[in-house]
Amino acid sequence: MCAALRWYHQVQNTNLKTDESLKKRPQQGSGKPRIIPRPEHNVTRREFSDSALKVLYRLHKAGYQAFLVGGCVRDAMLELHPKDFDVATDATPDEVKALFRNCRLIGRRFRLAHVRFGREVIEVATFRAAAIHEHDDHHSDEEGRILRDNVYGTIDEDVWRRDFTCNALYYNIADFSIWDYTGGFEDIEQERIVLIGDPEKRMREDPVRMLRAIRFAAKLDFEIDEKVIRAIDHHAHLLPNVPAARLFDEFLKLFQAGNAERTFDLLYDHHLFDEMFPATAKEIEENKEFWHFTRAALQNTDRRVQEGKSVTPMFLLGVFLWWPVKELAAIRRAEEKMSESQSLALAAYEIVAQQQRRISIPKRFTVPMREMLSLQPRFELKRGKRAMKLLNHRRFRAAYDFMVLLADAGLADKETAKFWTDVQTQSAAERAASFEVGQPGTSGKKRGPRRRRRRKPAQNQ
Ligand code: ATP
Ligand code: MG
Repeated sequence: MCAALRWYHQVQNTNLKTDESLKKRPQQGSGKPRIIPRPEHNVTRREFSDSALKVLYRLHKAGYQAFLVGGCVRDAMLELHPKDFDVATDATPDEVKALFRNCRLIGRRFRLAHVRFGREVIEVATFRAAAIHEHDDHHSDEEGRILRDNVYGTIDEDVWRRDFTCNALYYNIADFSIWDYTGGFEDIEQERIVLIGDPEKRMREDPVRMLRAIRFAAKLDFEIDEKVIRAIDHHAHLLPNVPAARLFDEFLKLFQAGNAERTFDLLYDHHLFDEMFPATAKEIEENKEFWHFTRAALQNTDRRVQEGKSVTPMFLLGVFLWWPVKELAAIRRAEEKMSESQSLALAAYEIVAQQQRRISIPKRFTVPMREMLSLQPRFELKRGKRAMKLLNHRRFRAAYDFMVLLADAGLADKETAKFWTDVQTQSAAERAASFEVGQPGTSGKKRGPRRRRRRKPAQNQ
């Protein structure tokens, strides 16, 4: 870097330090960014994927501005090994497409470029300006929620529409410096979550930011700025205005990233959990056992993520909805004669339908979840062939894990849990003895003659 440029940066940095010491935050329109040159920050290119670097270099070579932005810069600074990379540029989507063969443009309203390298996708977004006019009916609903936000802009417009200062750092591939317009660099060093602009207004514009504040606080172990907390407390009730499909995506990010327990505590403390899962929150409030069970499940989920094991959202959803389902099942059984399993399946159907109004859960998760819940009474049956058949049920594993958690929380019989744990590792003979059925092949029942298989009709007939 040339001496003049270094001097320029030093002056910029000194200015900003004074600014911070006065406790004034940079505001929109306050001009130039603080540019942190490579020797003054710890973000190395080793933290970025080759594909992301390839995209940046090619844009740069073609004469465009090319920055990494958002979570990947934040996580690289914290040495958290980012996995997804967002690129911001002044090239339009069509210009990006012209540079990359492996590029697809997505989105109708606001077009983004996806550059694909095998399974990895690098998202390239053209700088956007904030089309925010709180009183403009065309852009926001009556609560102030932004409905449209689709104007191209420059980097110093793009930055102000981002959510938190820690998510608004731009890594410039031209000289490996970091551009900071909002004080995010220092906020990361100070481990705090600060919203850009007026927190009250920004939470109204997009209530999902409340969940994001909690998610980043839990993930990064940062403290949430007091003003942000206040804005969450004022606007938690706006969460149901968010489309249910978007809340499902957020649910996944909140609870499957390895910090589910801490995330839950924060959501619960700030009444956001009540808005996401009203029936669950009500039951947790009233039943200590359910509270313990929920926490055990969250800890279990975090442990699995840390061990690199798979987690399915249907398990935790089943946990959250278990008590409301169980209570409703008892009511349905009192109304009409049916088995416990049937009543659980019916109640699960009704409770899921209620829950969908807040968070839309895809069918591929609700169906196995209902099965997992309605299998629970089957574990009490430990003798006979029907009992033994449960081991081969396609939902056995999930239902068993669920039952063990219930038992650990004192909500299912511990002996029963031990029985089902033991039988899984027993030999065929031992297992037959456990279930008190004859050993395979010695049942005494004679096999009839083998049926001839019908030939399949030819495909083209
Ligand atoms: P992570 O990928 O770890 O979840 P992230 O910060 O990268 O975190 P993304 O959802 O990938 O989060 O979003 C990328 C960037 O887009 C963010 O860093 C932020 O600058 C901006 N952004 C995302 N969602 C919002 C929002 N609701 N309001 C304003 N800006 C947002
Ligand atoms: Mg990201």
